Amino acid sequence: MRRTIRASPAPGMTAAAEVAQRAGLTGEITILSGYRTPETNYAVHGAGDSQHLRAGAVDVMVAPDRIAAFGEQALRLGRGGVGIYGSRGFVHVDSGPVRRWGDVPAELQSLPIAAGGPRRRLDLTFDPVSRLAEAWAKTRIR
Ligand SMILES: [Zn+2]
Repeated sequence: MRRTIRASPAPGMTAAAEVAQRAGLTGEITILSGYRTPETNYAVHGAGDSQHLRAGAVDVMVAPDRIAAFGEQALRLGRGGVGIYGSRGFVHVDSGPVRRWGDVPAELQSLPIAAGGPRRRLDLTFDPVSRLAEAWAKTRIR
């Protein structure tokens, strides 16, 4: 009998991949930042309780002409935090509480925070396999 064991992706990666799919982004996605050690998070002036510290967040580089669509899909997904950094060309997506910041378009400011029905709680318990996978995949995922 054969068994297939799969490493589950880090929750931030899962959220980013789902948003990318909904936004119609195909091909490679460039991840600017995924899991951060406390030292790295401090060096980049990350929030003290950043989801990046739990492998729960990714910053996805998005082309200028796609960033609005990507940000909108992330916000509509309503499954975690979304920070849109238009001038810096990336969108932060995480699996923490639903919230939004940055360059959120006016028409999306009023999206209900708890939209989307029952929220899937992602398991943030320490998983060395997914941490390792994220470390290896920190520059690009397919
Ligand atoms: Zn981030």
